[in-house]
Amino acid sequence: MEKPKIILISCGLFENDLTGRIEEDISHEFHYPVHLEECNLDLSRFYNPGRRQYNANGILKVLLDVAPREAVKTMGLLRVDLYIPILTYIFGQAALNGNSGIASLYRLRNELYGIQPDNALLIDRFSKVIIHELGHSFGLIHCTYPVCIMRSSTYVEDLDQKEKHFCYNCQAELNRKKQLGL
Ligand SMILES: [Zn+2]
Ligand SMILES: [Zn+2]
Repeated sequence: MEKPKIILISCGLFENDLTGRIEEDISHEFHYPVHLEECNLDLSRFYNPGRRQYNANGILKVLLDVAPREAVKTMGLLRVDLYIPILTYIFGQAALNGNSGIASLYRLRNELYGIQPDNALLIDRFSKVIIHELGHSFGLIHCTYPVCIMRSSTYVEDLDQKEKHFCYNCQAELNRKKQLGL
């Protein structure tokens, strides 16, 4: 049997320095090997022309079907603007205790807010969104500790205020969930 790992599925073009950094950050937080794979999903069927955005729930569902069996968790990395029906946009989405999640770079770019691009900051934000969603997939709920990665974020500024790590309580809960094999 193959060793369990977290699999990132890249649905969109990402530079190597970005994916490399993200792989490092994730393996550092979760202590699983991280493996990057190319996506062959056709995202166009999830495009909503009225909203000019992509339906996150639909993408999440098909990602489950393509998730490799040796994956502890599968995370789709995207570049498109994501929404769920009740929200204007989302940075990412994952079911609590689920096997997969998605995260998008789209709303994390400074350029979208009329600010100079900052690649290091962009990678940092993307890592935070991915670790947060992975946290949900391991069964963690939102945390109120101000700098904990599991604190909910609506704006990029919220992301920038968080650390890239779990607080003491969330880390303990994560360890417990991992031991239970969730
Ligand atoms: Zn969340
Ligand atoms: Zn926490």
